[in-house]
Amino acid sequence: MDPLQTKHRSREIWGAEVPLLSSGITSLTRYLPISFDRAENDVLYDVDGARYLDWSGGTLTASTGHCNPHVAAAIKAQLDRLWNIHDHPSATRANVMRRLHERMPSDDYVFQFYTTGSETVEAALRAALASVSIRRHRIASFVEGYHGKTKGSLMAVHALFGRNVQPAHLAPLALAFPNCYRCPYGKERGSCGLHCAQVHSEALEADRSIGVFLFEPILGTGGVHGAPDGYWDIVGATCKRLGILLIADEVSTGAFRTGTFLAVERFEIDPDLIAFAKGLGSGFPTMALAGRRELLRDSSVFERESDPLPESVRLQNFRAPGSSSSTFGGNPLAMAAIDATLDEFERLEIGEHVNAVGAVLLAGFTEIARACDAIGDVRGYGLMLGVELVKDRTTKEAARDLAIELYKRCAAHGLLIKVDAQGIVHVTPPLTHTIEHAADALEIFRSCLEQLQSFEGHDD
Ligand code: PMP
Repeated sequence: MDPLQTKHRSREIWGAEVPLLSSGITSLTRYLPISFDRAENDVLYDVDGARYLDWSGGTLTASTGHCNPHVAAAIKAQLDRLWNIHDHPSATRANVMRRLHERMPSDDYVFQFYTTGSETVEAALRAALASVSIRRHRIASFVEGYHGKTKGSLMAVHALFGRNVQPAHLAPLALAFPNCYRCPYGKERGSCGLHCAQVHSEALEADRSIGVFLFEPILGTGGVHGAPDGYWDIVGATCKRLGILLIADEVSTGAFRTGTFLAVERFEIDPDLIAFAKGLGSGFPTMALAGRRELLRDSSVFERESDPLPESVRLQNFRAPGSSSSTFGGNPLAMAAIDATLDEFERLEIGEHVNAVGAVLLAGFTEIARACDAIGDVRGYGLMLGVELVKDRTTKEAARDLAIELYKRCAAHGLLIKVDAQGIVHVTPPLTHTIEHAADALEIFRSCLEQLQSFEGHDD
């Protein structure tokens, strides 16, 4: 099926782009290069006039709905006043930090602002590695984890974009994600005694070169998995005991994506550093790094009038003046977008809404899975859901081709989904997805899957 056949304008635009574009763009765009023209809340419109319900959520950025009017008005008002003045104080930044501070796991956090996720993760790694002994300069991270594509953030990525290419003494310690659908240790959910947590604690204990553990609280790109209950109690306590700094990468999960402002709120661990979040500015490019005061701040800097350190020393130290700022970090437009986004989170009681719509979708997928063997697993948290397509429920072999066909078919019927190379459908609509649209989208999803795969009507 080629849903692009009738899309003349999209084809024209794609034809003009292809000769000039890097082939490193997202695979799904290559399969289906629809050009989108505009959006409203959870609905997208393409340049050929077709309408789509949106389960991709602007790659998890559309936290208050596409083009949220309150956020748009705040950005427009700021557009006429000031765009960038590099790090000078502003009432909006002060307000944003006060509001973010209230949402942190404890009082002990201060902030620095960035533009992209990779940059923020990289800043977190730099701040952490500046604080641990040189003998503990290795990182631990999950094999299936994703933290960005810049060279620094890729230091912690093992497999998703080819193998980690660092020399062995710098390569990260690889911990297999505790994925209960395909347990890396061959155990069964519920009867395993949290074997994964024991293995990981022992691995962290055995390797004294590890000073930092970078993790996604819920694995996003790697397949929408959460660790089993109790995992973080054990592994978090091990890290605290060993003095291993914890960096939570909440680039995908933060800003209410999983129903709470931060996903770590589920686990009762206080990370030393938190990189967040795609949805923080409702789609305006902006991110924040929160860190324990002692890691991000040297109070004496604010008391000194000049900086006595030579430049070469200064730049290695995250806390020295000028050492962790960036051109666009914390710019007035970004601050206006975050401030208005936080207003909307409160007005819409977004956490409750996310959990309510997430529950409707999860129940819908579970119902569809009863009739369709191609669904191997349904899982998720809030509005970060995964539907895993398999060729066979026993072997759990990934149904990649089916996932791509489903993606194309859903688009042809007015639903934009996101699928990955493991055959997993990632369902991440705008957090303001309405219950009515969730029901309509489920029906499109069900009928498209039924066109591709026989439905049996059994209930195992
Ligand atoms: N960390 C996580 C968990 C992510 O999901 C992503 C992006 N998908 C990144 C980091 C990188 O963010 P960016 O693409 O903005 O650099």
